[in-house]
Amino acid sequence: DGAATAATQWTRSTCVYCGVGCQMDVGSRDGKVVAVRPAEHPVNHGHLCVKGRYAYEYNHAPDRVTTPMLREGDGWRAASWDEALDHTAATLLRIRDQHGADAIGVLGSARATNEENYLAQKFARMVIGTNNVDCCARVCHTPSAKALKTMLGTGAATNAFNDIEQTRCFLLCGCNPTENHPIVGARIKQAVLKGAALIVVDPRRTELAEYAQLHLAVRPGANVLLFNAMAATIIEEGLVDADFVAQRVDGLDEFAAFARAYAPEAVSAQCGVDAADIRAAARLYAGSAPAMCFHGLGMTEHTQGTEGVMTLINLALLTGNLGRAGSGINPLRGQNNVQGSAQMGCEPATLTGSQPIAQARAVFESTWGGALPTTQGLDLMQMLDGAAAGQVKALWAFGYDIYMSMANQHASAQALGQLDCVIVQDLFLNETARAFGTVFFPAASVFERDGTFMNSDRRVQRVRAAVPPPGDARPDWWIIQQLARRMGHAQGFSFDGPQAIWDEVRAVWPAGSGLSYRRLEAESLHWPCPQRDDNAHPGTPVLHGASFAGATRARLAQIPFVATPEQCDPDYPFALVTGRGLYHFNAGTMTYRGANAQLQASDVLDMAAADATRLGLADGMRVRVRSRYGEVELPLRISPRVKPGELFTTFHRPDLHVNQLTSPHRDRLVHTPEYKVTAVRITPA
Ligand code: SF4
Repeated sequence: DGAATAATQWTRSTCVYCGVGCQMDVGSRDGKVVAVRPAEHPVNHGHLCVKGRYAYEYNHAPDRVTTPMLREGDGWRAASWDEALDHTAATLLRIRDQHGADAIGVLGSARATNEENYLAQKFARMVIGTNNVDCCARVCHTPSAKALKTMLGTGAATNAFNDIEQTRCFLLCGCNPTENHPIVGARIKQAVLKGAALIVVDPRRTELAEYAQLHLAVRPGANVLLFNAMAATIIEEGLVDADFVAQRVDGLDEFAAFARAYAPEAVSAQCGVDAADIRAAARLYAGSAPAMCFHGLGMTEHTQGTEGVMTLINLALLTGNLGRAGSGINPLRGQNNVQGSAQMGCEPATLTGSQPIAQARAVFESTWGGALPTTQGLDLMQMLDGAAAGQVKALWAFGYDIYMSMANQHASAQALGQLDCVIVQDLFLNETARAFGTVFFPAASVFERDGTFMNSDRRVQRVRAAVPPPGDARPDWWIIQQLARRMGHAQGFSFDGPQAIWDEVRAVWPAGSGLSYRRLEAESLHWPCPQRDDNAHPGTPVLHGASFAGATRARLAQIPFVATPEQCDPDYPFALVTGRGLYHFNAGTMTYRGANAQLQASDVLDMAAADATRLGLADGMRVRVRSRYGEVELPLRISPRVKPGELFTTFHRPDLHVNQLTSPHRDRLVHTPEYKVTAVRITPA
């Protein structure tokens, strides 16, 4: 409060942490952020969580990098923008000449604005000439986008957070909103206290599981079995919404025949959930319309991540829980603008607005004034594979600590170490920059830039600069344009600011064409929001009201269960699940540079008391965690939230490198790493 009274100016903006998209007022004084306070807004209703409200001190941390730098031997030397940009442009042109455009990859960022992500993919396609462009959605919710797009036609959340109070039943799957999306978690808890039913599907007994009628503590990796069993129950017990299915859903008979093999009694043991509980969950969900599903990375970060989400969509189709308020399938996006990053076209196979390249090529070529690349782009995982194989030579990553974030860290290191050129654009020398960077561009923070973010429920909101960037730090859009011009592309990269970039986005993305800055100054809006003559489309908080995007009917998906290759055995008897906690954010780059570091000083390994007793381990001891891929040491915490035989840890502390443990296994369809199941053994350190 003392800091708040010190502020001389307040600037309305959007939180930079999770995908809930809370609105905040940023208090500043003498060019520094001195306080953040919550705004009254439909998303956060005057509240912020411990990250959004307090974790802003990183902005003025003493180790903030404020000048461009070039690698020199084992160290770095400061450079002017001219020198750093000229050097980088010459390096990229040389690599392109020698190895072809597809030897270069660009990674957009959830930290960056929509406008900056749009420019990043335009840079990859028009300046470099490659579709090798992706973003961190690849390691989190690309499976959700793929599943939703495949089955319903739009790869995004079906409903808005504002629906939470209208639902009669929540089905929470593989998510822990209390810690990872705290404002949504609080709204769900309030709705449950007022009478909504709650089913939690999670291997761990999360805080919200304590408020649930049913907690299905599914075995890690068995989601497809569980949701097929719920679907089988809904059909067998006559709980299908027959009118909805008759009007809008195809394939019921074939699906019913397929689902018979997944009766709860048949799969219960493999799921680790009582058949009676599976049946009870199916009855509660099907009998409580409207029922709303939220899911997190516990659904997507599996070898059957995409297919797992498809089995959830089956439940919504069978019970008519789509197309109305309080229902739907809603991925909880982990990062502020990860939805926007992919939606703007940082995705190898689609252009802005998730438009397939083949379909939208003509519009983009006409707007951009040049030919789009014709080769198939690599996703993030394929870029690393390409680097390890010597085919990819350069990577430009902004706002993304790849080395810390990727699973199977030894393999990431091997791949990154092969690259000739690693351009890191960030606030700090992150672990990727320290170990592998060759060029460092100092970026402006969220408090120092203008633009828009797109939150988890498709709402587009303004981000506004509250203070100037320090030293030579610059917004990403400025840096991208400077590099493009030095590589011979002044045309198409001469915008005078984010609004002009956004106007081009609106020109190529019909579903966003009504989202003008003029309107966004006054209100935030959900896409689709096409331009109307009266410029007053209300936006679309609920998708699929009368039809699915481009189709009147959807089809049930028959998804056979395929077990992950990552199985426990006598040498590696524990199943380790990794995830995120309340006080820190991803690689800890921002939250460990402030008071949140005191709230949780270290990642810890959660273990059930029975396992600790059996192994002679005590709370607080350091233990060695060994997987088939690596080894780390962590402090042990005896926790009632994990079951015997299962373990949980976060991976926020940059010096602990928890991702040395995680496996090389990936989603079968979109390659998202399997962070959620790693077989490990535990010994005292
Ligand atoms: Fe920020 Fe998410 Fe917390 Fe809201 S819930 S304040 S968006 S981290």
